[in-house]
Amino acid sequence: MPTPTVAPTPATHATTAAPTAPKTADSEARRLLHELQVHQVELLQQNEELRTVRAELESSLARYVSLFDFAPVGLVGLESDGSIRVLNRRAAAMLGASLSGGQALRQFVAPQSTAALILALAGGQTGQQGPIELQLAAPGPVGARFVDLEVQAPAMDDDACLVSLVETTERRHAQSELRRARDLLELSGRVAHSGFWELGSEGRRLAWSAMAHEILEAEPGSVVDLEELLGCLADGEVREQLQAAFEQGRQGTAFELEVPVTTMRGRAIWIRLSGAPESDSGTPPRLLGTVQDIDARIRLEQARVGQARAESASREKSAFLSRMSHELRTPLNAVMGFAHLLAMDAAIAAVPQSAQRVGMIQDSAKQLLSLISEVLDLSRLEAGAVVPTITSFDLVSLRNEVAAMLAPLAAEFNVCLSLPACEEAVHAAADRHRTRQVLLNLLSNAIKYNHPGGEVTVQLRDAGQWVEVAVMDNGIGLSDEQRLRLFQPFSRVGAEHTLVPGLGLGLSISKQLAEAMQGRLEVSSEPGVGSVFTLVLPRGSGTSAAVKTQETVPATSAARPHRLKVLYIEDNPVNVVMMQALLEKRPQVLFEFAIDGASGLAAARRWRPDLVLLDMQLPDVDGGWVLRQIRADPELSRTRIVAVSADAMEEQQRAGLAAGLDAYLTKPINFDRLLSLVDDTPSLL
Ligand code: ADP
Repeated sequence: MPTPTVAPTPATHATTAAPTAPKTADSEARRLLHELQVHQVELLQQNEELRTVRAELESSLARYVSLFDFAPVGLVGLESDGSIRVLNRRAAAMLGASLSGGQALRQFVAPQSTAALILALAGGQTGQQGPIELQLAAPGPVGARFVDLEVQAPAMDDDACLVSLVETTERRHAQSELRRARDLLELSGRVAHSGFWELGSEGRRLAWSAMAHEILEAEPGSVVDLEELLGCLADGEVREQLQAAFEQGRQGTAFELEVPVTTMRGRAIWIRLSGAPESDSGTPPRLLGTVQDIDARIRLEQARVGQARAESASREKSAFLSRMSHELRTPLNAVMGFAHLLAMDAAIAAVPQSAQRVGMIQDSAKQLLSLISEVLDLSRLEAGAVVPTITSFDLVSLRNEVAAMLAPLAAEFNVCLSLPACEEAVHAAADRHRTRQVLLNLLSNAIKYNHPGGEVTVQLRDAGQWVEVAVMDNGIGLSDEQRLRLFQPFSRVGAEHTLVPGLGLGLSISKQLAEAMQGRLEVSSEPGVGSVFTLVLPRGSGTSAAVKTQETVPATSAARPHRLKVLYIEDNPVNVVMMQALLEKRPQVLFEFAIDGASGLAAARRWRPDLVLLDMQLPDVDGGWVLRQIRADPELSRTRIVAVSADAMEEQQRAGLAAGLDAYLTKPINFDRLLSLVDDTPSLL
């Protein structure tokens, strides 16, 4: 406040020139009076000023009190002993204390925070700053309450200090909610194999979640620089892709990409990386994103693609084999057919040399046919195209059937076949047709690689989950070195230098067939002593399922005297000539042919044949179409239809029979079978 100044009165200076004493006393009195008046004015002025100052003081005190009282933070003035000297309304409400003070602050603090309070006050008194969090003694509606306490004015002369209190319960609550949300995010990220990352707006510093660290197999906090990270993860094209994606993000466009990377520990994995600019940030923006481990999914997709490719390759291979088989069998059909006709020709039979040459043609053609069949079989097995039809059947009857078929061979080689009796049926769960093929190979080998007077025994054994067929011989036997090469295709392990016929394919096919039926083929042998080949198959159930064997050829019955109309639908003229010549052996047959599907169908409708011999690959339509048309015609309901096809694939045969064929003959034609089918066809005449 400015100090009031009193200006010296002009009268004071005027009195210095007074001439006389009475005059002096008078003027002295006037001067004193004047001075008195001046002092009085001064006093009045000072009083006025004091009143103003006092009013100002009172209003500032009132302002201070209301500021103190209504401050948004709690304020508490403390005595040196920690008792409350004064507190504002906020502090009183916060603590639940009386506004008049007097209580110890400590009593409003939870026991676990007492020590922290004492320390904070001591720290505050020594000038140490900073808030500390205390738990209050009285809980709130949703649990414990917390305040931040800070010493605002340390104790001075009068030993009192001022502390501020800010309630932090809500902030704490929000923080724990945030923590929970973050944990939840981390957990869901873990479940989805997904981590989170954030790239600062300066474009270099990365922060990532624990799961992101885990996915990239990095030590927490090890890589925080974007360029450094990209350098570790990838190089070449992938690295450029990643850099371009982050650049795109920094330009403000979200990105997502799936790339193969190398983790910090050098493992190759696929990740999906996505990033998006934070919407309210400036330019360039902050980027937020996820990193997801998609390795399992990508590998599964790749496996599926690989499998699909393999399946398609296998289908193509099967189709190629089917075509190849067709192409090879067609000319062979003519060779075998005409050789057969020549062999039946009486004029040729009369000249031994000619008959012998025809016989050689027949043998060579048969050998070629078995080579085609076996190579085809092996290729299909290797392509996984052979799907066995598993049924339960009796091995005893199959063994006997195979032995009966090979009895002529055994007689030719002067080998005795021995079939020990089995008290009970031994059931296998396998493909009967394929098992028969394996047994035929094992038994014929045991006969072929034997010596005159040798013996072959076929023994069956029930072995728990398995059944075994042991083909034992006392023939030439095999060395260890031979045994190692035994199952390689075309490997005859020395037999190629002998006169014993064979191709070296039977055992490799047999082994693969056994495995395709979930079984195995075992061998033990000793040179000069003999060999045991054991086919092990899964055991079947007790009751035999009725199994149709396609090879079962009915015995040729005597020709019947009725007239039989046979229509041959075939485009190859050589085959037509051959069929006609063959059917001339059956005088009751009336033969007609058609060279394509349309004219064949027309001929069938016009002529109503008893038997249609149908080539399945015709120039205009496929044989299946002709078959369906005939089967749909009620006028032709009793007509028998037999396929005569060079397509020997099992699937084709099965499909044809299911579509309504009465039989399926493959080329080269088995003449006995064809003639027996002709003989068994009832005449409609
Ligand atoms: P192939 O009999 O047509 O030559 P296989 O694949 O059936 O072909 O047999 C391969 C080879 O194994 C035969 O050439 C033969 O040398 C040998 N072999 C097979 N079975 C026996 C056996 N029981 N005793 C001795 N050698 C055998």
